[in-house]
Amino acid sequence: MSADALLEMLEMDEIYSEAARVLLEHPPFIVLTGAGMSVESGLPPFRGPGGIWERFDPEEYGHIDTFRKDPERAWVLLGEMLSGTLSFSPNEGHRVIARLEEKGLAGPVVTQNIDGYHGIAGSRDVLEIHGNIRNIICPSCGRTEYISSRLPDDWSVKCSCGSYRRPDIVLFGEPLKEGAISRAWEAASSGMDMLIVGTSGIVMPASQLPFLVRASGGSIVEINPHDSTFSNTISDVFIRERAVKGLTMLEGFLEDRSHGSPRGFK
Ligand code: NAD
Ligand code: ZN
Repeated sequence: MSADALLEMLEMDEIYSEAARVLLEHPPFIVLTGAGMSVESGLPPFRGPGGIWERFDPEEYGHIDTFRKDPERAWVLLGEMLSGTLSFSPNEGHRVIARLEEKGLAGPVVTQNIDGYHGIAGSRDVLEIHGNIRNIICPSCGRTEYISSRLPDDWSVKCSCGSYRRPDIVLFGEPLKEGAISRAWEAASSGMDMLIVGTSGIVMPASQLPFLVRASGGSIVEINPHDSTFSNTISDVFIRERAVKGLTMLEGFLEDRSHGSPRGFK
């Protein structure tokens, strides 16, 4: 190993050690996740090169008015999102978060993702503020269906009552999921700390939650391979890493520290 590589490794150890120290001060900590959480499952973010918004104008295809006026058109986008989600599965990072909750260290998990991966990975207290694309609802008769794996061959976007069904996600022009966002808001205002993974911090109002945590006296640890709205402003510890590696490493440091043998050099 070169001297530079060794130095970098030691610096990263310091960062993980500090992150573990901060997060173990008064557990449990809130987890906030965004599209980056599922990138290593195979699901790309919507924004940026190759993202779905390059091909579909979100305000057109993803708007509630489009679903009302021309549901087949809205389903071009919704169908692609649904089949994308069903093609992949949770990654090790989702499982790390579920284990941290099981141990009483983490929770609730507030997510902007609509893929349902946190729940499938075993997280129990998941606040899906944009809904879950696997829940299909009929706005006319109220029938619901949960899609767990692949779509049955005879599956239709139309309900047996004749109306168009839709996924229970928040479309443009619709309010967020009230129950989920109010609990997330309450947790963020309570003085709890927060671990943020894979969100750019552009999409409101989820992007305000970390600022609320900060204003309420909580600390913030962030994992993202790139800078975000939070990294140079309010994150106390910024781990510049992809979700799976960052979370796996952090889990190791949290375990060592909670068993009284902190890694690192502090
Ligand atoms: P975003 O697209 O604005 O940002 C994605 C973030 O992920 C970026 O900061 C990027 O640096 C980071 N990232 C990229 N690769 C990563 C990796 N391997 N590990 C960790 N982080 C990584 O996403 P957003 O802020 O969550 O907002 C996008 C909106 O689109 C959300 O509202 C969400 O509902 C929706 N969305 C959901 C999914 C999903 O359900 N999986 C996927 C795409 C978009
Ligand atoms: Zn119906």
